[in-house]
Amino acid sequence: MSASAPITQDVMTLPRKLPEGPINLVGLTRDAMRDALIANGTPEKQAKMRVGQIWQWIYQWGVRDFDAMTNLAKAYRAELAEKFVIEVPEVVTRKVSEDGTRKYLVRIAGGHEVEVVYIPEEGRGTLCVSSQVGCTLTCSFCHTGTQKLVRNLTAGEIIGQVMVARDDLGEWPEIGAPKDETRLLSNIVLMGMGEPLYNFENVRDAMKIAMDAEGIQLSRRRITLSTSGVVPEIHRTAAEIGCQLAVSFHATTDEVRNKLVPINKRWNIEALLDALKAYPKVSNSERITFEYVMLKDVNDSDEDAHRLVKLIEGIPAKINLIPFNEWPGSPYERSSNNRIRAFADIIYKAGYASPIRTPRGEDIMAACGQLKSATERARKSRKQIEAEAGMGG
Ligand code: SF4
Repeated sequence: MSASAPITQDVMTLPRKLPEGPINLVGLTRDAMRDALIANGTPEKQAKMRVGQIWQWIYQWGVRDFDAMTNLAKAYRAELAEKFVIEVPEVVTRKVSEDGTRKYLVRIAGGHEVEVVYIPEEGRGTLCVSSQVGCTLTCSFCHTGTQKLVRNLTAGEIIGQVMVARDDLGEWPEIGAPKDETRLLSNIVLMGMGEPLYNFENVRDAMKIAMDAEGIQLSRRRITLSTSGVVPEIHRTAAEIGCQLAVSFHATTDEVRNKLVPINKRWNIEALLDALKAYPKVSNSERITFEYVMLKDVNDSDEDAHRLVKLIEGIPAKINLIPFNEWPGSPYERSSNNRIRAFADIIYKAGYASPIRTPRGEDIMAACGQLKSATERARKSRKQIEAEAGMGG
């Protein structure tokens, strides 16, 4: 979608209701699960307790079979199995990089595919999660930006990526085992395919499931949502999700940012910075991350570095410098290491942390900005595509 095209309503706020046929419990909020249980025969006065029990089986112990839910009566388990399913996306391919990074291609309803990347580091492990098939936007340095938006992911397909990775990492605890604080998957970044703020409700519900204290129990401080600058939704992120915020910033003038991040033509640098200055969750201990891809002779000059620190003055921030990761047909080159170091130096001397992100998983096309799936927007109408995912109006 070119930035000048009006961002149509159907992309921003899709009506959501429970799909026909066996209902997938994965991705339902506690309230929606309660409604679904009552609608399918669970006595109202028991429903809250049943939600608590089923929730723990699914999200604390990683159980996918109702019969294994031994604190529920056998007859009730059989009833549940008739009306509901516990499904996560199917893993189509799993690639492991020489540096340990894992990339999963997963298939979701309608046969669409998205990529998910797990990045192990010393003492932590980060999962890079996708929120759309393709992307609403067309950032020119990003491989996903060349893939037209096919559809938004449901909350189940977003949290399902976390569950699939936990399966692969063997991260589900033994049933009944005491709580173990060590985690292989300790952080989530919404930096995969898609603009998460153009799929707000599903992203919110999925992250609330990830943060729920009776399930996966990830702290909100270990979840980072990265936006290209959907200004009206930034405040909501603080109010309704409460996670950390990152911004695909990448340029210090509107002229250059219009080319790199076309949504800038809708909400320019000034509008974006105003929204960030008003972000309720920002503080010195919870800084906003400014992502800055280093593109040779495009946005990497000393003037750019000085302008960048001037622009973000007054915002508790850290700047992630991302050496550009090339992809087939990409129109840019990565800045030289010396140029990146010189740029980082200027920012650091201005008092900002300016870590240079180590490209991970390049050998399996898993590095930042390299994700793209083969799913093209077939000759199907948007209604058909959302109906497949049970998001139909
Ligand atoms: S950087 Fe993000 S918003 Fe921009 S095209 Fe890529 S996935 Fe979409």
